[in-house]
Amino acid sequence: MDLYSGHINKLIDELSGLPGIGSKSAQRLAFHLINMPQDKVNRLARTIMEAKENVRYCRECFTLTDSEVCPVCANAKRDHSTIMVVENTRDLAAYEKTGKYDGVYHVLHGAISPMLGIGPGDIKLKELVARLEGDVSEVIIATNSSLEGETTAMYISKLIKPTGIRVTRIASGVPVGGDLEYIDEVTLLRALEGRTEL
Ligand code: ZN
Repeated sequence: MDLYSGHINKLIDELSGLPGIGSKSAQRLAFHLINMPQDKVNRLARTIMEAKENVRYCRECFTLTDSEVCPVCANAKRDHSTIMVVENTRDLAAYEKTGKYDGVYHVLHGAISPMLGIGPGDIKLKELVARLEGDVSEVIIATNSSLEGETTAMYISKLIKPTGIRVTRIASGVPVGGDLEYIDEVTLLRALEGRTEL
């Protein structure tokens, strides 16, 4: 016997498919949504749909943005010959928050993980290689210090080495397995300043 109505069950089902939402949280959120005023629910639904429709990849660095080119890539004052490679847009935001990095980025949207079946072709790697044809003096690899992040860093450095472009890796002041977005700005800066040649 179903404990809840079919519609509530469906809502709980959809919510529990979101990252970090277990079945208990999904139930709590579902009942919260049902009890919210109609106009707030409409606004939330509309916001989700509008974000989905309007957010896209930056043509150059592949971060998520509302315009064809993101504000960092569009900024002529940034050093476009230094590219920091990060796993996702949240990591880019973490470095931007320090306000001390003046290069540009490349967002991979993931990391190589043989265990999860994610190969080099599943992340924005060929897009990175294509960018190297331009005027690039250094590629800073700032993937996470997880197994996947390190595997990806190794892969990228092997890919770039033959081109003669300088390749560096941020220092591992970042705790192993730590997600970049949770690390404080001082540690991020130290990791950047202490980067080593690969
Ligand atoms: Zn961009």
